[in-house]
Amino acid sequence: MAALAVAALLLGWLSGQVLFFLWLATTGYLIAHLLHVHRLEQWLRTGAGPPPRGGTGIWSEVFYQLQRMRQHHWRRKRTMTQYLQRFRELTAAMPDATVVLRTGGEIEWFNEAAGRMLGLRSPHDAGQRIVNLVRHPHFVDYLRERRFADPVEFPSPVNGDLVLSANVVPYGHEQLLLVARDVTRLHRLERTRRDFVANVSHELRTPLTVVRGFLEMLEDSRDDLSEEDLRSLHLMEEQARRMQRIVDDLLLLSRLETDERPPWRTRVAVPSLLEIITAEARALSAGKHTIQLEADPGLSLRGGEEELRSAFANLVINAVRYTPEGGTIHVRWYADAEAAYFQVSDTGVGIAPHHIPRLTERFYRVDVARSRQTGGTGLGLAIVKHVLERHEAHLQVESKVGQGSVFTCHFPLLLTTRT
Ligand code: ADP
Repeated sequence: MAALAVAALLLGWLSGQVLFFLWLATTGYLIAHLLHVHRLEQWLRTGAGPPPRGGTGIWSEVFYQLQRMRQHHWRRKRTMTQYLQRFRELTAAMPDATVVLRTGGEIEWFNEAAGRMLGLRSPHDAGQRIVNLVRHPHFVDYLRERRFADPVEFPSPVNGDLVLSANVVPYGHEQLLLVARDVTRLHRLERTRRDFVANVSHELRTPLTVVRGFLEMLEDSRDDLSEEDLRSLHLMEEQARRMQRIVDDLLLLSRLETDERPPWRTRVAVPSLLEIITAEARALSAGKHTIQLEADPGLSLRGGEEELRSAFANLVINAVRYTPEGGTIHVRWYADAEAAYFQVSDTGVGIAPHHIPRLTERFYRVDVARSRQTGGTGLGLAIVKHVLERHEAHLQVESKVGQGSVFTCHFPLLLTTRT
């Protein structure tokens, strides 16, 4: 620009037309700028081809920087496309249905498996609320109540034979990731196992009744039996009774696993139920323990009376069986602002901490000999766990070896009624 001004001044001075040459130089300069601006505007508007090359003065620098930015942009775009391609291939290869949802449940994105398993169609269903497309009540309640800690199982809306297990994970900014797996095989296996246990227990009942009948007949003619035969007879009776208890407990467990949940509207008068259970426990203890009952008289629970009786009795009877003579057993039924509690504490043998997480497994015993000797089946706490699950309750176990144990069932206040 300085060179142009000097040249214009020189030519103007020589020809005596300084103003004219200055005007000419300024106009030329402006036109050159306008040309560059025009090239730039055209390139920006069409967005095609490489940025304008060459140029003079500041424009060569502008064009050069643009060129660099563009190359950088292309490289990034290529990398992003590769990532996107890889992500698409990965999600397409994934056997699990994957859906990205907004917190309101609107579908943002889903993979091919989600199309197959949940019946979502692309792009038609993007933006739709998932509960309008997957309408199973279990799934709808799960999303509405945001119970994301555990998975939810429901049949596929496309194929009723397919059982899906879905998990939702909140992530990023108000987004949810839904992953659904096909668990049909696992489900069938679980059903086969349940049916097998139920059938075996059921089949064992008849021969067991026959055996017990004959044993009773023999008992009637005890006067004809020798001392040795009588001892054998008692042993056989004891074992037959034990087997009967195992079969009964297994059948009860099968029923708890397969039955519909207990009716919520049935009111169970827990205090009077506990009166009966503690009376039975006192009979079993035969004066060897102090058994105290402390129950809130107006506090009732809604649920299945028979199964609750079974669960509570198992806990109280366990306390008697695992507490040495002279011990104290305390049975409590009360509520606070958070929950209602059924609690059994004893001053018994206690349980080492590493056993506690496994106590509710079937046939898990800390001391097999003691369990058998006191008439245990190893199924009592498994029954307790199932009954509590069916009442949306859970079991808490605190114990110290040699000092005693506290078994507490936590019931939601929603299931309690006050009279
Ligand atoms: P079992 O019929 O063997 O008692 P349960 O399922 O009722 O089976 O209990 C599992 C195991 O838990 C028992 O074998 C026993 O070792 C332990 N247990 C249960 N209740 C108590 C208790 N009150 N004190 C100490 N140990 C207990």
